Amino acid sequence: MVGKLLDGKNFSAQIREKVSLQVKKLIENEGVTPGLAVILVGEDPASQVYVKSKGKQTVEVGMNSYEYRLDKNTSEKELLTLIKKLNNDKNVHGILCQLPLPDHLNSDLVINAISPHKDVDGFHISNVGLLGTGQKAMVPCTPLGCLLMLREEIGDMSGKNAIIIGRSNIVGKPMAHLLIKENCTVTVAHSRTKKIQKLCSTADILIAAVGRPELIKEDWVKEGATVIDVGINRIEQDLNINPKGYKIVGDVDFEGVKKRAGAITPVPGGIGPMTIACLLSNTLVACCRANNLQEPKGLTA
Ligand code: NAP
Repeated sequence: MVGKLLDGKNFSAQIREKVSLQVKKLIENEGVTPGLAVILVGEDPASQVYVKSKGKQTVEVGMNSYEYRLDKNTSEKELLTLIKKLNNDKNVHGILCQLPLPDHLNSDLVINAISPHKDVDGFHISNVGLLGTGQKAMVPCTPLGCLLMLREEIGDMSGKNAIIIGRSNIVGKPMAHLLIKENCTVTVAHSRTKKIQKLCSTADILIAAVGRPELIKEDWVKEGATVIDVGINRIEQDLNINPKGYKIVGDVDFEGVKKRAGAITPVPGGIGPMTIACLLSNTLVACCRANNLQEPKGLTA
């Protein structure tokens, strides 16, 4: 058996299409254009690529994109002043401060300065608390992308055994809350978990958010399981084999695991593209909430 490929490129394009349609309606019927402000401090090369891609996709779905590229030596006071200004700007519905921030800036302080209503990354402590207590929250984009994909593939997840490997604040923990809400039986594994392979082999849904290249092998996975690979790992390669000198792989040994899984996301082309699509849908949702308008269906947790 070879598992079904869960195509994140295709599915994220469908989400962007839905967002784009809703944005058009908002502009035509309400005279409101959703706006996303992205702040980048410093010149981290990966962050620059992400910010560029976010800005491009924001414009493509018809939203306003506001980009703030700040010097790496920007002070906390200057950054907080900008956030305050954006919090009070009616044209800005979503604010994202690209992480990681330079070492002299306190990320928690900065994130918690963003209005929770505009916190489209879902990292503000209020949103973390709302999600953890099963209330309406802004949900972090990567776990939201995983959830939408699982709903599309499985539908009702009630009673399924879900195992998440990784307990980070941005992926593992929010994912656990989302799947508890879906009535899964959820286990969160991490670097201290014992007999992790045996544990994983009981999962109907296996989510890998570890950051270890191809850690999860075929014999870790239950026959027919749905496997979601969040990992993005760069592996050096000989320039004679690959002119880029590296390739990107996930936390799952895709070639092995696809023989056993019922469905599996590839890397690249799986959860990666879902993350930005969910950032756009979060911005749309924030705009609807700010204007007391009905929220779009099928794009939220
Ligand atoms: P993180 O903060 O480094 O957390 C990694 C987690 O994996 C930790 O909980 C750690 O356990 C656990 N872990 C590490 N080695 C392990 C092992 N050998 N066995 C079991 N658990 C182990 O990483 P993250 O931010 O959640 O990201 C995880 C991966 O997803 C990375 O590859 C990242 O690049 C990728 N990612 C992708 C997207 C996307 O858009 N697709 C978004 C975010 C992240 P401890 O807590 O015990 O240390």
